[in-house]
Amino acid sequence: MPILNGDAMTGGVPLLANKEILPYEKALEYLNEYDSRDGLSIDQLLDSNKNGALTYNDFLVLPGYIGFAAAEVSLDSPVTKRISLKTPLLSSPMDTVTEDNMAIHLALLGGLGVIHHNCSADDQADMVRKVKRYENGFITDPICLSPETTVAEAIALKEKWGFGGFPVTENGKQNSKLIGIITNRDIQFHHHDNDPVTAVMSTDLVTAPAGTTLLEANEVLRQSKKGKLPIVDSNGNLVSLLSRTDLTKNHNYPLASKLPHSKQLISAAAIGTRPDDKNRLQKLVDAGLDIVVLDSSQGNSLYQIEMVKYIKDKYPGLDVIAGNVVTREQAASLIAAGADGLRIGMGSGSACITQEVMAVGRPQATAVRAVSSFAARFGVPCIADGGIQNVGHIVKGLAMGASTVMMGGLLAGTTESPGLSFVRDGKLVKAYRGMGSIDAMEDKKAGAGSTGNAKASNAGTARYFSEGDRLLVAQGVSGSVLDRGSVTKFVPYLIAGVQHSLQDIGIKSLVELRSGVNEGSVRFELRTVSAQAEGNVHGLHSYDKKLYS
Ligand code: IMP
Repeated sequence: MPILNGDAMTGGVPLLANKEILPYEKALEYLNEYDSRDGLSIDQLLDSNKNGALTYNDFLVLPGYIGFAAAEVSLDSPVTKRISLKTPLLSSPMDTVTEDNMAIHLALLGGLGVIHHNCSADDQADMVRKVKRYENGFITDPICLSPETTVAEAIALKEKWGFGGFPVTENGKQNSKLIGIITNRDIQFHHHDNDPVTAVMSTDLVTAPAGTTLLEANEVLRQSKKGKLPIVDSNGNLVSLLSRTDLTKNHNYPLASKLPHSKQLISAAAIGTRPDDKNRLQKLVDAGLDIVVLDSSQGNSLYQIEMVKYIKDKYPGLDVIAGNVVTREQAASLIAAGADGLRIGMGSGSACITQEVMAVGRPQATAVRAVSSFAARFGVPCIADGGIQNVGHIVKGLAMGASTVMMGGLLAGTTESPGLSFVRDGKLVKAYRGMGSIDAMEDKKAGAGSTGNAKASNAGTARYFSEGDRLLVAQGVSGSVLDRGSVTKFVPYLIAGVQHSLQDIGIKSLVELRSGVNEGSVRFELRTVSAQAEGNVHGLHSYDKKLYS
């Protein structure tokens, strides 16, 4: 061994005191001689900033060794004690983020959308039902005509819905005997408006039996050269419909979130903790709910603890995610009550002013580490909720010990969120508002329309313990985010980004990430303010930040 000169300034790495050059083959061996590794362990990282807690921007993960392709990185991770996802991404229960369309598409991509409760219990249950009834490619609630429908009425329906192919059934409803199909061509030049559709409908039908897979049905449709393929049961009753126009859109979704032995997508929805929420929950359970999220900005309350116990007792098959929490003490109460998962975050959301107004909360990276390391001892998975602005933040949330991350603002601009895009200051945007914003709370109070399809309802409950008060105290703001296109492109980008990041860290799965962090083999570094500036684009006159193509 050469004479070495240990020097704190080099991070524990001894300097060569003489000019001796070591044989290059010894580099790895030489490295193993050190008793400390480069960078910081997770405990050193959190300790190193004794006077303040950390946010995601305050640190970095050090790179490791790449010995595999990014696509090999597995992102399987539990969201509750019993349910795992292939994509560790959730969308927030907010009325500008998650209704049935977001929930369906996120579940198809392996994640989970939590349906908001700023609407009536019936509307929310309908959304859960749509998620459970969704079958990729199949129209599971087709618009049907009865034999008495007139040609004029069929033309009016065509104008209303923007398509002209309707199955005709004996009683005009789904699950009744299929007797024909009306197509655009059947009614286009028919001049006797009062004739019944039975006078013009096509009756030489090509159908497929219930249970036909999407791949098989697409093939039948392709060969038949018809516009629509009705799926019928053994008695000839209409079950669903496949449309030629959807043929090219029908992708396979190998990551789709489903329970073992089930073909249906997993559904999750949020409720509050007021007595009336028990009635709401019954409707959601009747609609097929799998996971209920107790939605509160401060979850460590008598109400929530009682609600967790009530649900675990009454619906043992239903998983309960409790929260939100940011301390071990908060987490302990909810874990002891029986929570199957925890949601971590207070004040880190992009539309949130909780920390400013209430003076409570915790920087997110520290909160995630504190709670998830505690919850892990009881086998309770945690969601890092809020403050996710980019792929790097997702990885940091997971590295701090969360099993999954939840996003509001990042997904609010996608096509699948409720509401329409509009132009503001020359940019295409979508509305995004905190559920504790005056706007959202007033809509709930008035039972007025939410920004999405469901009407807001005062039957909902108080996430912010304020909606019932005479004076509303806002904990969120109302604004807009840039339009991002469809989650069917954006989420695969997030997934690929996380896989590349883990590859850089030298980690092949989220299980390995968690053990690597706990054992100290995954290393971290604090970031000074200038390090943060260095890590962002700098020195360019102008640039375009295109994230994926
Ligand atoms: P984002 O992904 O940073 O936009 O944060 C989304 C998260 O913010 C949600 O999942 C909620 O936990 C939280 N949140 C939603 N509305 C409000 C609010 O009005 N005030 C504070 N936090 C909110």
